Amino acid sequence: MRLDKFVAKSTTLSKQQIQQKIAENAVYVNGIIIEDPAYQVHENNKVTLNGEQLIARPSRYLLLHKPANTICSNIDEVYPSVMTLLKTQSTLENIDQLHIAGRLDADTTGLVLITDDGRWTFNITSPAYHCPKVYRVGLSNPFKAELVTRFEQGIQLQGEKQLTLPAVIEQISEKEVLLTITQGKFHQVKRMFAAVGNRVINLHREQIGDLKLDVACGEWRFLTAVEIASFT
Ligand code: URA
Repeated sequence: MRLDKFVAKSTTLSKQQIQQKIAENAVYVNGIIIEDPAYQVHENNKVTLNGEQLIARPSRYLLLHKPANTICSNIDEVYPSVMTLLKTQSTLENIDQLHIAGRLDADTTGLVLITDDGRWTFNITSPAYHCPKVYRVGLSNPFKAELVTRFEQGIQLQGEKQLTLPAVIEQISEKEVLLTITQGKFHQVKRMFAAVGNRVINLHREQIGDLKLDVACGEWRFLTAVEIASFT
């Protein structure tokens, strides 16, 4: 982990204050002054600030049911950030240190994972890990059953060189399907259906890996140790 991140995870200092402390030579790793905020701190390193040893807080892992008209960002823009939903519980501190592991569009609802563990996020979002994400998709036109094999073989998205990775489609009704993908390209689901002449009118993420959405819209909970470990 970067030195500035380690200090952030073990103090309540702001990013600016941390930069200042490092620049003032107040931060040591294993007894040596470190001036580079990007210096890599390892598990058994002893980090001190003004002579006091710092202990990083354990990482946090949350599941949230994203409502429509919220955005997966740390700051409010046209719509409020999903992070504002976390502020309803006062025990959750340093919300600004959390990030979203796999973002959804403003109009998409459903399962969002939130953490401060970048390595864990990588396991969920990197296509190399093949972590499946299940979307319930409402379409403007009937879904043609003969397209199932095209989704399995890969769809050519506009502006992309390679086909999408194999996807699984289960038809629920004339205009509703469950789509399972292991990638997370920009607007991927909407672009996949646009590429076959259809249009997504409702999009809801139901599942990531083995984790199913089990809280009401707008609510959140911490993950269990078993759920956290399922992504490592
Ligand atoms: N694909 C999309 O097009 N939008 C989302 O929000 C998620 C996946």
